[in-house]
Amino acid sequence: MNKNLKELIELAQIDRELDSFTPQIDEIDAKIAKSQEKVDAIEEEMSQTKSEIEENSSKIKAFEDQIEALSEQIKSHAKKSKDITTEKEMKALSMEEDIAKEKLSFANEEIDRINAINEKKTAMLQELENQLTSAKEDFEKTNADNVAKKDEIEQNKTKLYTQRDESTRSIEQKILAFYEKIRTWAGNSAVVPLRKQACYGCYMKISDKAYSEVIRSEEIITCPHCGRILFVESELTQA
Ligand SMILES: [Zn+2]
Repeated sequence: MNKNLKELIELAQIDRELDSFTPQIDEIDAKIAKSQEKVDAIEEEMSQTKSEIEENSSKIKAFEDQIEALSEQIKSHAKKSKDITTEKEMKALSMEEDIAKEKLSFANEEIDRINAINEKKTAMLQELENQLTSAKEDFEKTNADNVAKKDEIEQNKTKLYTQRDESTRSIEQKILAFYEKIRTWAGNSAVVPLRKQACYGCYMKISDKAYSEVIRSEEIITCPHCGRILFVESELTQA
């Protein structure tokens, strides 16, 4: 087999491997991001719950103030009632008192109700706290595992880049430029095998004449349909 072609096949293989690292790294980054999102979501829910508890506490405080004011009011009614002389006045005062008592009981009920809600929310907060601890542990673990994986990929990448440098150094500049030019549009399929006399890049059959040229592989032959560099796999194994 033509030396240039053989070198290009090897180079194309290295480039394919190098490109295959990108999705691997993306996948790792996605895993780390997902783990971080989980932590963020729990923290967000916790902060939401905390502010709801605070809001409820200030509602309780408002009802407590109201109760205090109402109690004062009821006390003053008791004093007033001593000075009442007419039935009309008495009725009015008694009505005011009833309203005050009604408000008082409503305020007490509300305090009980909101307290019960806050108890539930506080328990929920504790549960979220536990979830956060475990989510953070998961994150640390995921991060550590994946940083190690990423390091390994980076090492392999460096090795392959060294191989690529060596490989490109021995390839004729003109041939290399030709390959790079095809690679700009064909990506990883710049150099493709022929299968059943068809280009494995565009899947179109090539003529018998072109086929025999590729088999001879005296020079670099490109697919007449798409322009990719072609080779015969059996030739490669023999070489
Ligand atoms: Zn083709």
